[in-house]
Amino acid sequence: MKTVRQITILGSTGSIGESTLDVIARHPDRFRVAALTAHKNVEKMLLQCQRFRPCYAVMLDTESAEQLAKAIQVAGIDTEVLSGIESLEKVASLPEVNTVMAAIVGAAGIRPTFAAARTGKLVLLANKETLVMAGRIFMDLVKQHSATLLPIDSEHNAIYQSLPHRFNGDLAAVGVSRILLTASGGPFRCSPLASLEKVTPEQACAHPNWDMGQKISVDSATMMNKGLEVIEAHWLFDAAPDKIQVVIHPQSVIHSMVAYIDGSVIAQLGNPDMRTPIAHAMGYPDRIESGVSALDMFKVAHLDFEQPDFERFPCLRLAYQALGAGGNMPAVLNAANEIAVESFLKRRMSFTAIPTMIAHVMQTVKQEEITTLDDVLRTDRLARDVALEWLESLH
Ligand code: NAD
Ligand code: MG
Repeated sequence: MKTVRQITILGSTGSIGESTLDVIARHPDRFRVAALTAHKNVEKMLLQCQRFRPCYAVMLDTESAEQLAKAIQVAGIDTEVLSGIESLEKVASLPEVNTVMAAIVGAAGIRPTFAAARTGKLVLLANKETLVMAGRIFMDLVKQHSATLLPIDSEHNAIYQSLPHRFNGDLAAVGVSRILLTASGGPFRCSPLASLEKVTPEQACAHPNWDMGQKISVDSATMMNKGLEVIEAHWLFDAAPDKIQVVIHPQSVIHSMVAYIDGSVIAQLGNPDMRTPIAHAMGYPDRIESGVSALDMFKVAHLDFEQPDFERFPCLRLAYQALGAGGNMPAVLNAANEIAVESFLKRRMSFTAIPTMIAHVMQTVKQEEITTLDDVLRTDRLARDVALEWLESLH
């Protein structure tokens, strides 16, 4: 008989969170939801609690937690409602839970994701920002507490699937020469450069292939998402930056590739639907149904590849710079990017101001080494302050 795995979903009301619940609903014999968490979306959380009956539901926001608690009582559901960051850490560390889906967006996900690693969980990592901000510290923590890390980001999941089973962190030992990280190029891959100044949040969020949360959609339009993913790949696979090559592949059918010294290139293909990497990581080492339709090669017909253009996508260059500089710089890059994206979404600055703001913050914050989570959080706050000051200077 299969043992039922207890799972906590951090960020259950988001795009990854909902896809995770969709996969779970297909396998009631394998998974049981122990805890769900969200920021403020009471309505969606209530529906999820009604359907999945978790032991805990955490709303980061206190007022939202109060509203949810009332609604849960009225609905007669046996779910305990909690609030605040400590509760997010608590449900990521529950002794009865062995699997944690880390799907909060942005730096807000770092503390609960750390809590999951510290308590030796199987961490399904969608929250790439944790690795960008604190790669070395987080990877050391995973090792120290015998946690297991499986990548959910489609590219990294594809790389994981394209590596041999005996891969243990040493790419050279298994004959890998390069990682080819594919990118769609986003909605502005072919737009005239001069038109980028005036693009709207709606246009930036209309991704040609993937349906995702707002932040990652804007990151895809600037290609900062690929920059963050280069840093993520560096830490996950211990790959030197010059061994990670970004390849624009507009169809998003190849989710990434691994090149070997004998000339072989192994790729993972599929329809662009996050339920595939989610099901892969949740079922691992078994293969389980995800609800994703079979890939129709005749419909795909063409697979195209292009070099990325750093003039069009300066954010990608900034990410390589931050990775090369090391220390606090990736955390500075990430924080500045979060403020930049939020400011663009609130129409307080233009799309093209995003890389300008990030470059300014990277030049202003002093470069230094970071060794603890507190150092990372301090860097994050400082970089956000510098970004906000720069924004004020615009108005
Ligand atoms: P989303 O915006 O759709 O959902 C984010 C979730 O986090 C929601 O449940 C929200 O309530 C919660 N949240 C937001 N702010 C919070 C805060 N301050 N404290 C606690 N919870 C908070 O985002 P998403 O697209 O699902 O992305 C989630 C993560 O997965 C991101 O790190 C993203 O980069 C990564 N990812 C997403 C996709 C995708 O297809 N959506 C693909 C690869 C990686
Ligand atoms: Mg990705």
